Amino acid sequence: MSQDSNSTKQRTYAPSQEFASQANATADLYTQAEEQGEEFWANQARDLLSWSTPFNSVLDWSNPPFAKWFEDGKLNAAYNAVDRHVEAGNGDRVALHFEGEPGDSKSYTYSELKDEVSKAANAMESLGVSKGDRVAVYMPMIAEAVITMLACARIGAIHSVVFGGFSADALRSRIDDGEAKLVVTADGSYRRGKPTQLKPAVDEALSKGGKSVKHVLVVKRNGSDVPFENGRDVWWHEALEAASTEHTPSEQGAEDPLFILYTSGTTGKPKGILHTTGGYLTQAAYTHKNVFDLKPETDVYWCTADVGWVTGHTYIAYGPLLNGATQVIYEGTPDSPHRGRFWEIVQKYGVTILYTSPTAIRTMMKWGEEIPAEFDLSSLRLLGTVGEAINPEAWTWFRKYIGAEKCPIVDTWWQTETGAIMISPLPGVTETKPGSAQIPLPGIAVDVVDDAGTSLPNETDGFLVVRKPWPSMLRTIWGDDDRFVNTYWAQFGDKYFAGDGAKRDADGDVWILGRVDDVMNVSGHRLSTPEIESALVSHPSVAEAAVVGAADETTGQAVFAFVILSDHATTEARDETELSEEIRAHVGKEISPIAKPKKVLIVPELPKTRSGKIMRRLLKDVAEDRPVGDVSTLADQTVMQQIVDSLGTK
Ligand code: ATP
Ligand code: MG
Repeated sequence: MSQDSNSTKQRTYAPSQEFASQANATADLYTQAEEQGEEFWANQARDLLSWSTPFNSVLDWSNPPFAKWFEDGKLNAAYNAVDRHVEAGNGDRVALHFEGEPGDSKSYTYSELKDEVSKAANAMESLGVSKGDRVAVYMPMIAEAVITMLACARIGAIHSVVFGGFSADALRSRIDDGEAKLVVTADGSYRRGKPTQLKPAVDEALSKGGKSVKHVLVVKRNGSDVPFENGRDVWWHEALEAASTEHTPSEQGAEDPLFILYTSGTTGKPKGILHTTGGYLTQAAYTHKNVFDLKPETDVYWCTADVGWVTGHTYIAYGPLLNGATQVIYEGTPDSPHRGRFWEIVQKYGVTILYTSPTAIRTMMKWGEEIPAEFDLSSLRLLGTVGEAINPEAWTWFRKYIGAEKCPIVDTWWQTETGAIMISPLPGVTETKPGSAQIPLPGIAVDVVDDAGTSLPNETDGFLVVRKPWPSMLRTIWGDDDRFVNTYWAQFGDKYFAGDGAKRDADGDVWILGRVDDVMNVSGHRLSTPEIESALVSHPSVAEAAVVGAADETTGQAVFAFVILSDHATTEARDETELSEEIRAHVGKEISPIAKPKKVLIVPELPKTRSGKIMRRLLKDVAEDRPVGDVSTLADQTVMQQIVDSLGTK
């Protein structure tokens, strides 16, 4: 039963009896984790994965912060994600429904996926790739991207996926950092109805670097005319046609590397995060099963992320397939060819579980609830979000217009570094609270501490740390153990420092206050970015907002707010000065006069990374009147210019 209180901010939503009674995870999971300690994870690893050599050692933490989980065990990730479902008699179940942007689609059963992954593994081996080699994957969101990742895992090669929207330079630096032997790419893709090209960026990257690269394997996706270097470049379809569907998965040690993935670079030079096999897969399967309540026989799961970021690794390529799920992957943008595309896909495949980002939800809000209302969304039973704190306003909208006021929402906090979800409600257990990721998952020891590392009481702002090693934790930064130690462990010694500010509310629920680098200090008061942004977004004319603290002579820092107007506010074309003033006053009323932005700047767009995160440091450059810094990891590199131009004319 839902419980009402006076303010929408504090309203909580208990899971329905119907949902709770069928949920995979019950409150008992917390008790088990508490009682069993490390053995809890050993049990998950044994229950959820198939080991070719069982492990005896659970955790080796003798050389912190370098953890080893299940070290003497052996297994193969691709065997676990694909083959064993076929062996168990589920070969005819659909593993992937691929939906192309132009509307083409193709489904792969687990048997078909096994054949494709085996062929790709054989093809890569015949190109000289073997265990431990690095493979750069620069692809659109097509089935072959997932097939490539699994093929790497099958032979023990380490994949390093680089977002397909990144520039040739970003690709080159990642290829060089990992010394990749093979690049897997596509001729191109489709974006907003038009064919785009990807292969030329690979050629450019390799002309400036990439000396380690021997071959480029190219998927023909849109048939566009791309340069081809004989000897080096190989067509995917030709290589796979020649390859056998028989392939024996290589036996990997639990601590053998599975992949490298660079963080989104919101705060500085991207870090090549290294994940290994046994622990990562354990937590991927465990969280996917319990947080998303997956029922492999009946659910249709869709995560809208790109494989270029960690969510696309753990919650597309690994977690769902380990659990034998049927999932949808979509190539394109949410507004192509129309703004109802997401909902059309939900309707077409009968999606039951939808995992997306707050930024996508705010975009849908901006477009208006009339759009989803045109589609049949009744198949949905669970919704999830990740990437940044979700504003209560967006959470409530999501629940109402997408979730028919019945779907539990799981707001999941985690990072590239953590490998899998760490803080989240359990959908059949937790009474959810809009805006808060709430509680650490069973088995995870999260804390909020002060700068000396001392645990803080509720209702006090501090730093988010993880107290105990967890299976899917990063093992290091590729090639840079020192940076690994300095970035995450130097601050608090034995605790992992996540880089995020946080506080626990009176109920002990965790609220993420944004990155510590983004926390603002106005006249001695620490202000959190998500809190002010949520207040801004709760103004009817504001669709999206980002705030930064800019140096200020009198107050130390002053709050600058950048806002995008909602569609109806844009149409009304109100006087901008008057509207800005109204929005400022609104924040003052919602939070406090101290939080009132010094300036509200109305802009056409906000600078976002590939994973939809706002890059506040660039806005800070604008607010402090400096040349704009490195924009190479922005999803759209022209955005900063648009913002500067729009402000210039005001
Ligand atoms: P970089 O570390 O290079 O700056 P990044 O931190 O953006 O990149 P990710 O690992 O993709 O790269 O993002 C993790 C961060 O995203 C978290 O540290 C947190 O700030 C934010 N985040 C993710 N999920 C949530 C959530 N549910 N609530 C609040 N913040 C979240
Ligand atoms: Mg980070």
